[in-house]
Amino acid sequence: MAWQEVVGHEAQIDRFRRNLRSGRLASAFLFVGPDGIGKQLFARKLTQTLFCEVNPEYECNPCGQCPVCLQVIKGTHPDLHYVELLPGTAEIRTAQIVGGAIRINDKEEQFPGVCYEVNLKPIRARRKVVIINDADSLNNTSTANLLKTLEEPPPGAVMILLGTSLSQQLDTIISRCQILSFNALLPEQIQQILLQQQVVDDPNEALELAMIANGSVGLARRYSESDLLETRRELLGLLTALPQQAEKLSAMVIGLVDGKSLSRREKMDQLDFLTSIVVTCFHQVALQLSGQPPSGDPVLIDVSRQIASAWPGDVETALACIDRTLETAYHGRANANVKTLVEVWVDDLSQIWLTGGFKLPT
Ligand SMILES: [Zn+2]
Repeated sequence: MAWQEVVGHEAQIDRFRRNLRSGRLASAFLFVGPDGIGKQLFARKLTQTLFCEVNPEYECNPCGQCPVCLQVIKGTHPDLHYVELLPGTAEIRTAQIVGGAIRINDKEEQFPGVCYEVNLKPIRARRKVVIINDADSLNNTSTANLLKTLEEPPPGAVMILLGTSLSQQLDTIISRCQILSFNALLPEQIQQILLQQQVVDDPNEALELAMIANGSVGLARRYSESDLLETRRELLGLLTALPQQAEKLSAMVIGLVDGKSLSRREKMDQLDFLTSIVVTCFHQVALQLSGQPPSGDPVLIDVSRQIASAWPGDVETALACIDRTLETAYHGRANANVKTLVEVWVDDLSQIWLTGGFKLPT
């Protein structure tokens, strides 16, 4: 039952199940969807399905345990060929596609080229499978060289390209592949994966990470190695008593987004991250004010409950806080003076909070 490791994406699994049962599997696929949602794992599971020596492929149920299944997951199966960006490069190199030498760390390395490899006779499986990760980074030359193989692959061979969106792919690739779209995962699905992969042990912490990861396990993993969760807890804590803690909140946010060592891009990312926490929180407040139960991790639920119970305004007022915060994130991108921008934003939030949205006379 190796597919069980794939969380979400049931419709895509179903599609392959139907294809394999009817014996109609296309030879070239383009998987598109955000980074870090399991497209790679999915491609490997599909390869296990095609290679497994215990369960036949039409069952679409690789055992996940036989030596072949294990080789696929480890990436050591001789009939699975994998292409991805080499460290420190921004494009898939043409030699990775058609063969040739590439200089890596002052050493020349020979690449057979995946177009050559896929045409060799399979060694252990009945077919060859090629997974091209980072298909967004195929340059024109690589793409041109790949087209013939995509169009006329050797019998039985399966090519799987993984990219983030169709807009990143050339039409010539799109027209030769079957497209499968993968959606971002729900927070609960990310939580399940983080626990399964033992990134963290605490279910609450896993859900907190999932809440800030924008549907991406990759991001959640990265966040688990940083102190972003602490930052989020501190920010949410200050929000519970915003009017009294406005100065502290301003200082905290400014400290994080206006550091001298930060590049413009990093400042923007920080402001996006912090404002998105505030937006999520007021969204939860608005839900509760309209009589719906809160959702999310315990920290968020607790904070949004406290705010909702002390809220002097109505749903509209909470929505006004969201609008004001989104506006701040937008202006932050437009190169405004971040310090002033944050101060005015926090002041406005306090004012909306205190007055139920009506402007105080000045
Ligand atoms: Zn197996």
